[in-house]
Amino acid sequence: FPVENIRNFSIIAHVDHGKSTLADRLLELTGAIAKTDRNKQVLDKLQVERERGITVKAQTASLFYTHQGQTYLLNLIDTPGHVDFSYEVSRSISACQGVLLIVDANQGIQAQTVANFYLAFEAHLSIIPIVNKIDLKNADPEGVETQIEKVFEIPKEDCIRISAKLGTNVERVLEEIVNRIPPPKAKTDDPFKALVFDSTFDHYRGVVASIAVFGGQVRKGDRIMSAHLGKVYEVNELGILRPDEHPTDRLLAGQVGYMIAGMKEVKEAQIGDTLFLQKHPVEPLPGFKPAKAMVFAGMYPTDQSEYNSLRSAVERLTLNDSSVTVQRDSSHALGAGWRLGFLGLLHMEVFNQRLEQEYNASVIVTTPTVPYKAILSSAKLIKEYGEKEITIINPAQFPDRSVVSEYLEPMVLGTIITPDEYIGKIMTLCQNHRAIQKNMLYIDDKRVMMKYLFPLNEVIVDFYDHLKSLSSGYGSFDYEEAGYQPADLIKMDILLNGKPVEELITVVHKDKAYSAGKALCERLKDCIPRQLFEIAVQAAIGSKIIARETIKAYRKNVLAKCYGGDITRKMKLLKKQAEGKKKMRMIGNVEVPRDAFINVLKRK
Ligand code: GDP
Ligand code: MG
Repeated sequence: FPVENIRNFSIIAHVDHGKSTLADRLLELTGAIAKTDRNKQVLDKLQVERERGITVKAQTASLFYTHQGQTYLLNLIDTPGHVDFSYEVSRSISACQGVLLIVDANQGIQAQTVANFYLAFEAHLSIIPIVNKIDLKNADPEGVETQIEKVFEIPKEDCIRISAKLGTNVERVLEEIVNRIPPPKAKTDDPFKALVFDSTFDHYRGVVASIAVFGGQVRKGDRIMSAHLGKVYEVNELGILRPDEHPTDRLLAGQVGYMIAGMKEVKEAQIGDTLFLQKHPVEPLPGFKPAKAMVFAGMYPTDQSEYNSLRSAVERLTLNDSSVTVQRDSSHALGAGWRLGFLGLLHMEVFNQRLEQEYNASVIVTTPTVPYKAILSSAKLIKEYGEKEITIINPAQFPDRSVVSEYLEPMVLGTIITPDEYIGKIMTLCQNHRAIQKNMLYIDDKRVMMKYLFPLNEVIVDFYDHLKSLSSGYGSFDYEEAGYQPADLIKMDILLNGKPVEELITVVHKDKAYSAGKALCERLKDCIPRQLFEIAVQAAIGSKIIARETIKAYRKNVLAKCYGGDITRKMKLLKKQAEGKKKMRMIGNVEVPRDAFINVLKRK
């Protein structure tokens, strides 16, 4: 296939603006899938994606499009829109020369539209602005185009108005992909060089890598090498995705496809790695900035006997999602497990849901935390750690003030876009989350874009939910890393009947210790069911108790209700109680539901 007739592009947008729907239409128009009413987000293959209605994993599809007598190969990479998955977006972008930037004609530019625009802009890609959902009654394409011109400095005239749902004007999108996006700068006669931009694990075939060929070609049977590990593999299978796998004999410069090459180990198909022919080594491609974990939590098997099967599930899933970091960990109450790092809370929830649905695993997840830093002042500790500045990803290991000269917390620069009637309430919300305003800009006559510097810890859990409810669902939020800042942090213990619970230790800002302690105790009271004895739930800073709640005793005699006679009913009740117990974990003599560790963070 001539390189001049190849176009590699991705679709980027705020969540729900219609990426997957437009992808469906493009697949239909080019005959990759039959046209029926049932094509709804066909690229969202994972169960979690269908249930949540969001795209988690970027997917690739190769389309053949004939225009003015020429046939083009269009490689589409669908991407997720949620902030936690922007890593997937940047990976997709690195294999592309252009993007379709979709904006909903009713909602206009949202926080993630801005974030995604900058990812594409900084990668110097051609950007085709698309105003979608023009069929909606309240659509305001004119207004949205004005926003696009104001915020992104893209001329209004460049925008294409479509309805992805009805298919209106989608043909025009295909034409503009060919006209406005340049072909890849790859040469077929160069030595083979490919970028691994994604990889999945298949139980039967091992690692399936998504590759973009930057130069030369690769054939079945070729012996290839990875730059990262320097291991040699034989190519067993190659092909393109349409969107189902379609085996081919070779992949040429400029093409995007999949490759199976006998990689069995989790670490072999590193995302961002360069592949080349064993006999023709090349200079590796720049690769990716490794994803930075922003949220850490402990993960344990519900039952220790399932440790090994959970380990292999975690290994396999992290191959599918290399942005998760894994370290071994153990806890008194929960046994052997891991401390995992995620890009955000949604990312963590999706990971757990996939473990349960795709691997049938049952896990306990502990309270998430952000990575704090401490500058040590104790010579002894500095020697022990081998450095002065340490990162703390487990609150149980938070060093005491007496050995630390300064604590630091991770910061993020948040973007909020909202109708202006909510500005006042949102400003108060931000102040309550220790945020500092940096900037405010009207993007049209009713909507503003505000920038705030936040401590990451203040946004990961429920900031977004609050913002949504304060703004009747109209406010949107996204954030990017913004380094570390000194902070007055302290460690807060939680005690159940006087016993400190390591898994519930939390790091809090000094000014918020009392309110955080009180809130945690109240929520724990709601999470832990009444038991045969009274339970005291306390929050403590050092030896000082700062909050307390009491869970009253309650004798739950399930058999009292059926007076002797009905034996099957009795058995049923006992079975139900036993099942309830499985979801519990003993801490000292208190039974704690396994989801309590994470539920304590969620506000009512
Ligand atoms: P994504 O999150 O960007 O992938 O968005 P989806 O493609 O999943 O679409 C989100 C919702 O918007 C779905 O309910 C779609 O049916 C709907 N939608 C997408 N495009 C259009 C459109 O052109 N018009 C209307 N009315 N609804 C649309
Ligand atoms: Mg989608």
